[in-house]
Amino acid sequence: MDLSNVTERGNVEDRRGGLPGGAALGGIGALVVTLIAGYLGINPQVANQLFQAFGGAVQQQKAGPGKPDGYKEFAEKITGACDEVWREWFARNYGQRWQEPTLVLFDSPSVPTGGCGTVPSEAGPFYCPGDKKLYLNPEFFDTLEKELGGSKAQFSQAFVIAHEIGHHIQNLLGYNAKMRAFQEREGENGGIRLELQADYLAGCWAFHGQRRYKFLQNPDKDLQEALKTAKSIGDDAIMRKMGRGDRVNSAKFNHGTAEQRYFFFKKGFDTGDATRKTLDKFFDPNVRPLDLGPKTWGQ
Ligand SMILES: [Zn+2]
Repeated sequence: MDLSNVTERGNVEDRRGGLPGGAALGGIGALVVTLIAGYLGINPQVANQLFQAFGGAVQQQKAGPGKPDGYKEFAEKITGACDEVWREWFARNYGQRWQEPTLVLFDSPSVPTGGCGTVPSEAGPFYCPGDKKLYLNPEFFDTLEKELGGSKAQFSQAFVIAHEIGHHIQNLLGYNAKMRAFQEREGENGGIRLELQADYLAGCWAFHGQRRYKFLQNPDKDLQEALKTAKSIGDDAIMRKMGRGDRVNSAKFNHGTAEQRYFFFKKGFDTGDATRKTLDKFFDPNVRPLDLGPKTWGQ
């Protein structure tokens, strides 16, 4: 990825490099984690297992001065490029003002949020609708590559950030509220609609970002890296990695299968079509969440 054409800088709060604090979170914490995990990069069940592994207590760290490793600059450019693309798209296609989100970088075992409680780092990157902030521990990408079979290539990391910004877009456009009605009917699986739409929005961003900044020198290769990640974080793939492949249970999915995530990120990247009409297709009541994909999408 070549970001030299990206001059914009998004809002990034670098809280890394702090000293261990030691605040503990018990009982209610498990519940909070389950509720919050709906927005995360992984299945709530997995988050809960991780939570249990930590004995139901998460360690907090005092926010630090940040780290001079260049990651903040990378994150500022990606969020800046997202702001540019979506600001224009919001004005032109939705007649709505774009509200810049803030990306929080942290490296502590857990992170306090404004409205989503304290979330353990193991839960993966997430968006908190309450404070309109994205939370990311860059060490997540090591886990992604080593344990989940994803990629930590730059474009793959950009995809993850763009996916979380996708959740911010859904918050602004009212799809979050829409999802709740579907979830009443479809249970946990209702969340798949939101997750696949976020993947699709990340793809649309990459389409428009590439036109504006030419940040992919080798789009096919870069795309493969990001698709590897999209695939590796499908719920079926994560469950298989957690040694539960024999019991992969579609009723427990809430991010969609690896195949679905691959399909929608690629579809967004190929078309860049983030019109309301297309986004509404993720909430077609006649298509069940696990049927969203090549067979039901058309063209
Ligand atoms: Zn998500």
